[in-house]
Amino acid sequence: MESSSLYGTYARAEMVFERGDGAWLFDEAGTGYLDCAAGIAVNSIGHSHPHLVEALKAQADKLWHISNIYKIPGQERLGQRLCEATFADRVFFTNSGAEALECAIKTARRYFYDAGEPDRYEIITFEGAFHGRTLGTIAAGGNEAYLTGFGPKASGFKQVPHGDLDAVRAALSDQTAALLIEPIQGESGIRQADPAFLRGLRQIADETGALLIFDEVQCGVGRTGSLFAYQHYGVEPDIMAIAKGIGGGFPLGACLARAEVAAGMVPGTHGTTYGGNPLAMAAGNAVLDVVLEDGFLDTVREKGLLLKQKIAGLVDEHPDVFELVRGDGLMLGIKCKKPVAEVLAAGRKRHVLAVAAGDNVLRLLPPLVITESDLDEAVKRLSLAAGDLNAEQTETKAEERAS
Ligand code: PLP
Repeated sequence: MESSSLYGTYARAEMVFERGDGAWLFDEAGTGYLDCAAGIAVNSIGHSHPHLVEALKAQADKLWHISNIYKIPGQERLGQRLCEATFADRVFFTNSGAEALECAIKTARRYFYDAGEPDRYEIITFEGAFHGRTLGTIAAGGNEAYLTGFGPKASGFKQVPHGDLDAVRAALSDQTAALLIEPIQGESGIRQADPAFLRGLRQIADETGALLIFDEVQCGVGRTGSLFAYQHYGVEPDIMAIAKGIGGGFPLGACLARAEVAAGMVPGTHGTTYGGNPLAMAAGNAVLDVVLEDGFLDTVREKGLLLKQKIAGLVDEHPDVFELVRGDGLMLGIKCKKPVAEVLAAGRKRHVLAVAAGDNVLRLLPPLVITESDLDEAVKRLSLAAGDLNAEQTETKAEERAS
């Protein structure tokens, strides 16, 4: 008989955490682990941030859920703040990143339907993309491993090589509704889009009337040192999906769009039971209070540069384990020479947590509030982990010679 009642969808580590504080997680024995994973870019303002805890407790005493059949003042407030801080004029709140993407895709398709071009529903996406695990978003992501065994792939998505504007042009047709891209791909190994490539996509969209959709589920909400990565690249989308960091640990996502683009999303076209409920809005507004504080994003940029330099030093120090570092702000990837699973496990033994990604990359996505001394500590622990891996290899070789 199976030992767990849960679906076997996750290859979980044998680790249980009981509480968190800032960039630290503590297990049941009280042992601290330096968290450079942040729930995969979710705990943007760290664990147990007093402002977030207070906001959720205060809301919990009043009202948790009310349904979107009523007005929700927290939604109006968070929506307005997101619009003031971005290109967008309209926001739809969801519970997750995949749902934010579903809304983005539906918004683009509906825009052309209302414009009298119902056949214009195709979305061009890019190799290495990850947009979620719903039937629509696995089709958008185009990763065979995630599509296999789930019936016919949802139609209306065409994938082209990343960074190749000619391939995008060749893929265009009368059916093209939108181009969908993560400004920095997270799951496939922290791959930054070249700013010239993003500008090229904007130009193609402008020339053809197609919409440009950015997926900032992982790279948004201050992670790169700008509120959103597109602001750092200077290229504006028409629609943007966000999630993860905006809730700081509470399930929350959003689809942002220009007013004209969202105009077709009228009553009856889309909806969600939970999305944007008062508790989620209390969390989102509290996260924004912190992230939009004067100077906060400057500290993220500074810490990001510092961490990148330190990791470059780490790569020089352990050339057999690490190859290079890439990324922006506190969204960094270390391409490894040793299998990333081994590096991740060695880090865990030294009580520093990270996330594996594609292209044999170790992702570092610490809470944006991590201190400089904790960044130092994280790099020290990674260095010890790399030393452990080298020592293991030396021992294995010695054993092989002896046998
Ligand atoms: N888009 C990107 C870029 C992501 O990184 C993720 C999750 O990792 C998603 C979409 C899906 O978000 P969720 O897991 O909240 O549905």
